[in-house]
Amino acid sequence: MSNSSSQRTRIVIIGAGFGGLQAAQSLSGADAEVLLIDRHAHHTFIPLLYQVATAQVEPTQVVYPVRTLLRGSPNVRFLMSEVHRVDFHSQIIETDHSLVSYDYLLLATGGKTTFQGVAGAARYGLPLRSIDDAIAIRNHIITRLEQATGEGNFQERQRLLTFTIVGGGATGVELAGALLEWMRGAMGRDYPELRHLPARIILLQSGDQLLPDLPKKLGKYTAKKLRRLGVEVYLQTKVERVSETGIMLSEGRFIEAGTVIWTAGQGATYPQSREAVATASKGKVCVNSSLQLLEYPNVYAIGDVAYILQNRKPLIGVAPEALQAGVQVAKNLRRQLQGKSPKPFRYFNKGRLAIIGCYTGVGYIAGVAFTGVVAWLMWLGVHFVYLPGFRNRLLLLLSWVQGYLFADRPVRLILPATQPMTKGELSISLASEQPDSGNDSV
Ligand SMILES: Cc1cc2nc3c(=O)[nH]c(=O)nc-3n(C[C@H](O)[C@H](O)[C@H](O)COP(=O)(O)OP(=O)(O)OC[C@H]3O[C@@H](n4cnc5c(N)ncnc54)[C@H](O)[C@@H]3O)c2cc1C
Repeated sequence: MSNSSSQRTRIVIIGAGFGGLQAAQSLSGADAEVLLIDRHAHHTFIPLLYQVATAQVEPTQVVYPVRTLLRGSPNVRFLMSEVHRVDFHSQIIETDHSLVSYDYLLLATGGKTTFQGVAGAARYGLPLRSIDDAIAIRNHIITRLEQATGEGNFQERQRLLTFTIVGGGATGVELAGALLEWMRGAMGRDYPELRHLPARIILLQSGDQLLPDLPKKLGKYTAKKLRRLGVEVYLQTKVERVSETGIMLSEGRFIEAGTVIWTAGQGATYPQSREAVATASKGKVCVNSSLQLLEYPNVYAIGDVAYILQNRKPLIGVAPEALQAGVQVAKNLRRQLQGKSPKPFRYFNKGRLAIIGCYTGVGYIAGVAFTGVVAWLMWLGVHFVYLPGFRNRLLLLLSWVQGYLFADRPVRLILPATQPMTKGELSISLASEQPDSGNDSV
């Protein structure tokens, strides 16, 4: 056994998102010491971030302390730290604070927004991936509304009230619908000065269909519904440049906009390593059917960081895939601990749901496509059930009642995003934690 502090096998998991957390919980009681590492002390329920961004729910309602979720798992420890580097050969990872050795490693570091080389997109486009991103979008939208009320120039006022969303996947559609609900409802009551000048919401999609992971007819329904509600939907429209004042389209048209939200590109993210590992599209790490890296059978990768083939097609990158893979990795690790070989992973697709807004959604379950209020209610139900924490669920319910029944936006606040601690402060707080976490320096 390679770690010096104990005789037990050590499994290190990087990332306490959907996949990593599920794997850690499924390893509860295993005959191994499990160390879960994340740069944040909380787990983020990413599917509800768009509701934070559109002032529907509090940021604290969609995050949950990792340590609380690990209560009752004495063999699983948590370390809040950034992992910078992995040495697959020596089986050591380098964190903010120390070097940690492992016998088995799980990469569950998720994805990141990519701006696909579009000039100005990284600087002026607002991504949505973390709680800080969601707060930044909310702050930005409210600031634009405040600026618009004090603006005397008609054209500039219209620009400040133009919200452009790049990317017609589920996140882009959800944001467009939620923004529309906000601008149609609470905005008019809060800003009577702006009532006669309606906000423009523009959704740009490079392909010929919204929600490209769902059947074409659902994409068509979504575009029709959004257009009917008042969203300007442009398909087969590529962005060439983003600037401080708007968006230049590849067809040569310029859209003056005060806000550009970027949901178009997702790529994998993982710590650096000296040794090269095979990667595929979006920079995802290639794994075999048992979810092990092709080069290192003691290293697994799951979720948005992994390129997992099923029926010769890659998985698309949604939470249920990461959750199910987390369970399978835990099973495989238990098998490896007993000297048995790991088993292949088979993803069971329970279906997909997407919310459009204004009491409408779309769904595709067991080959059956459906739309309207049923899909909308199912989406709310599924996300309510899966959100971790009783308190969070209760508060979510209250926010939804206020938002959907009274057309209000309860969290219209411009507040700073979460304040990260300085490295010095972090080292002090973690120094007392390290012996407990089973973390050793080598
Ligand atoms: C805006 C948005 C909305 C979405 N909506 C839905 C939806 O409605 N339904 C759905 O099924 N899917 C949705 N998805 C996709 C879903 O969120 C992902 O597929 C899922 O989160 C992947 O889980 P994961 O465990 O791979 O990564 P994540 O959940 O992203 O977790 C990765 C974790 O790793 C940590 N980490 C990363 N690098 C390091 C490092 N170097 N050191 C320490 N920690 C690190 C991060 O802090 C994070 O906690 C959405 C995605 C986005 C961006």
